[in-house]
Amino acid sequence: MNSIAIIGGGIAGLAAAHRLTRLVPDASITLIEAEDRLGGKIVTDRAAGFVIEGGPDTFLSLKPRGLGLCRELGLETRLHGTNETIRRTYVMRGGRLYELPEGLTGLIPSRFGPMAKTGLISPLGKLRMGLDYLIPPRAANGDESLASFVERRLGRELYDRLIEPLMSGIYAGDGEQLSLAATFPQLRQTELEHGGLIRGMLAAKKTTPAPKPGAKKWAAFLTPTTGLAEIVEALAQRLGAVDVRLGTRVACVESMPPGFAVRLERGESITADSIIFATPSFATADLIADLDSRLATALRGIPYVSTATVSAAYPLADIPRPLDGYGYIIPRTENRAILACTWTSTKFPHRAPEGYGLIRAFVGRAGQEDVVNGSDDDLLALVRDELRRTLGITAAPMLSRVFRWPKAMPQYTLGHTSRLALIDERLASHPGLFAAGNAYRGIGIPDCIASGEQAAEGAVKTLSEIIPA
Ligand SMILES: Cc1cc2nc3c(=O)[nH]c(=O)nc-3n(C[C@H](O)[C@H](O)[C@H](O)COP(=O)(O)OP(=O)(O)OC[C@H]3O[C@@H](n4cnc5c(N)ncnc54)[C@H](O)[C@@H]3O)c2cc1C
Repeated sequence: MNSIAIIGGGIAGLAAAHRLTRLVPDASITLIEAEDRLGGKIVTDRAAGFVIEGGPDTFLSLKPRGLGLCRELGLETRLHGTNETIRRTYVMRGGRLYELPEGLTGLIPSRFGPMAKTGLISPLGKLRMGLDYLIPPRAANGDESLASFVERRLGRELYDRLIEPLMSGIYAGDGEQLSLAATFPQLRQTELEHGGLIRGMLAAKKTTPAPKPGAKKWAAFLTPTTGLAEIVEALAQRLGAVDVRLGTRVACVESMPPGFAVRLERGESITADSIIFATPSFATADLIADLDSRLATALRGIPYVSTATVSAAYPLADIPRPLDGYGYIIPRTENRAILACTWTSTKFPHRAPEGYGLIRAFVGRAGQEDVVNGSDDDLLALVRDELRRTLGITAAPMLSRVFRWPKAMPQYTLGHTSRLALIDERLASHPGLFAAGNAYRGIGIPDCIASGEQAAEGAVKTLSEIIPA
């Protein structure tokens, strides 16, 4: 009987296990997770009528495998979009909140009207954006930072005031270091195909097909009614015969022809024909260091950033400013410890009881990570200070939660695609070894699901080649 071990029970590892139960129901599948619970970065705390997400709070509907997996799990009817009645988000500039201009597509403005009207960008900044129409594409190929690309095409002001905080909301990263090719390759593609972003936007307007009549139109961001943990819970219920080992840390993986040995920290070993590493890349590096030091070095080349989320709940009477939007993002240039603040009870009204507001702040980003090492009280104090300055809240929260995420956000820095090529090459030299998760080709939940499922398919294919039925 084929045996497959999955290391890591985050969404990527769970998606791999789920796919395997469907592809090879007779195989011996073991899922090994260091923590006492499944889900990894997905943690939902349901308390006093509030739904508090510790890590992610939604997933993109555009990327197929988030919605796809929810359908397979029977969760489609549980999915909610963000509040359609108030679709506003704010951006801070000089301590004040400005509405985020509507019509941003893939980080970049795609409508002239809202950009022309916004007070977030100065008249000079808007003129500079318009120059994109005239600037020829960069001739040189090779990787470029996200900041350099946006500055070159649309100007520094647009980068600092709009693109940087939007990008930070996804990667908690430093745009000067992030690789355009690994994060937003479609932007360079548009430049090459159309000569610039504005030209690309005009061309897209002409070619965008009308939506199919009768097709259900999903909101851009989705989440199950009582939190993303519903996906983890549904997956856990469907793992059937999978041997799930919680609270079990893997120490290393060794070659044991024709397969591998997974050595557990508590001494025991598991043999497997194939292994899926659904662990952060630095953890995977430690596990395979003796097996392939070059692979370990390439994996360690992917840096990570630490962040934290702090949620605070209040009676609405304690919140002087109406929570009339999804929240606000804070550019790095504002020099604040907080990088974004979500007004959860407006974004998802069912996540707080009637008459209460739930707010969630993100703390820590690339270059400003020390703050995450503070105590829970320190982090809450930082967030309360932010809420006092921006929303005028002086009352103590009736309920608060701090979730710390050390080395949680992989950074696709310059050279990421070359690192991936080397990682793929090294993995291919060990038939049966696969890597999945947020370190490689997408940090969002749908990407992680897709990577786990692809690893599962790869494992099944390899096994059928090595051990023909
Ligand atoms: C604060 C925050 C907000 C986010 N917001 C969003 C969002 O709104 N939407 C979105 O799409 N994405 C969001 N993300 C990103 C997304 O949540 C993650 O990229 C994704 O959940 C990662 O899944 P994963 O399975 O790759 O890794 P993880 O969830 O990190 O799982 C890896 C697992 O491996 C285990 N492990 C590690 N070492 C070992 C070992 N030696 N032995 C056994 N087990 C081990 C860990 O305990 C962990 O459970 C957010 C992330 C954070 C931190």
